[in-house]
Amino acid sequence: MERKMAAALLAVLLLFSLTGCGTRPDGADTAQKGSGPESTQVNGTTGTTQGGSGADTDQGGSTARLSFQGADGWDFQKNMNQSAFGSMGELCKAETGYYFQFGDTLYYLEGAAGRVTELCAKPDCAHENEDCNAWAGAFALWYSGGRLYFARRDFEKRGESFTELGKHVYAVDPDGTGRRQVMSLELQPVRGRPLSSFDNPICHRGQVYFVYNGALYAVPLEGDAGEAERIWGEDYSAGGGEGGYTAYDPNEPHYTLWADGETVYFMLIATQENGARNQTLYAVEPAAKSVKKVWEVPDGEQVGPWETTGVSVSQWYVLNGTIYFYLSGGDFWKTDLAHGETVKVADTHEQTLYGTAVFSDEYMCLLNDHPMINPATGEPWPEGGFHEGGDTVYVYRLDGTLMRELPLGGLWDTLGEIESFYPVFCDGDALYLIADAGRMVPIPGGAGSQKSRMDALCRLDLETGAIREITRWENWT
Ligand SMILES: [Zn+2]
Repeated sequence: MERKMAAALLAVLLLFSLTGCGTRPDGADTAQKGSGPESTQVNGTTGTTQGGSGADTDQGGSTARLSFQGADGWDFQKNMNQSAFGSMGELCKAETGYYFQFGDTLYYLEGAAGRVTELCAKPDCAHENEDCNAWAGAFALWYSGGRLYFARRDFEKRGESFTELGKHVYAVDPDGTGRRQVMSLELQPVRGRPLSSFDNPICHRGQVYFVYNGALYAVPLEGDAGEAERIWGEDYSAGGGEGGYTAYDPNEPHYTLWADGETVYFMLIATQENGARNQTLYAVEPAAKSVKKVWEVPDGEQVGPWETTGVSVSQWYVLNGTIYFYLSGGDFWKTDLAHGETVKVADTHEQTLYGTAVFSDEYMCLLNDHPMINPATGEPWPEGGFHEGGDTVYVYRLDGTLMRELPLGGLWDTLGEIESFYPVFCDGDALYLIADAGRMVPIPGGAGSQKSRMDALCRLDLETGAIREITRWENWT
């Protein structure tokens, strides 16, 4: 049973990874154009469009309360790696704003609620193809030591065919110019199809941690991946076929990398001694070169039933040696990683049984969405991987105090028929979310109507409940 569920989860992970990767060799993935400042959808600097709450005191732009202290440092940005929205999973914070990728395009959000612009200053650029400075197709985005970095898969196009060149890291100046390839994430030159590792690399204190052929490696930022140090796991390419080719192995471990202070963590979906495939957290002490298993997803006997029992927690966050985790269909828990004691932080089911959470160092913001139901089985599909709906955010402090209950309904005034919300990240006193609206629009030429999708990035002030649209992408299908 666990195996089946894990396989389904893995499929979802791969699906997300694939859809998140813009450099697909079929060339079908063109960059989606967001609304630039000319499109008049950016409210931050003018304040002319208020959110629908009626209590909007957020002035946006430079007057909004910022939380960029330490953003110029070298640490993994924990709260920027919480996105629950597949098209906006790559985010990082700089001294004066946020960088993010939507579709394949990099954007800059000025201040906490200011203008959103493509990260491209080329005159007359339509920001529509690979010639644009903002075009990235990245699967990871970092800000480290005052520079923006992104990782992506590269391909060489010859006629109609594409050759895989492997994964590389690029450095970019803060204004989007000066892009240069600074390192590879391949230990050996790629010949043909790469192995199935889509696990996101992270950068922490000058080291890049990345997964290659199923094993975890570390190498200095901008260093030579060929000299990377293997930290954990066996290289799956050992004994592989021609050119390092190895068929997809469903038992290959998948990593979610993390860092907190001196410790680097990785969450693995891996086969346990009892044969079950569970989420397991390992702690790496780089100085001591030690790796230790510190946590395993609790089973229902310990914490009660939840949506994806036995496979994965819904969302988690490691801070100061404690893992905080939310179980959709259950509650909010934490485990002291030094002592292994798991305790309930809050009875979140009293507010909402299901949901999607994002964490920061201060808060857990919980959206009351619910699992998507497979109409054929009447069960959540696929095993809790997708959520929909949601109209209220519950803001908990990490000590379990329910601080706010914030309705999102005000957005309906400006956005129309909202189908679902996706929490993207929480920073300072704000939660950023995507409102996904689906509308029927006429097909040009009078051939009936079709569904048009519009995604709006919105900012919810956790103190006042004021909500405002920051930018939107229309006709996003
Ligand atoms: Zn451009």
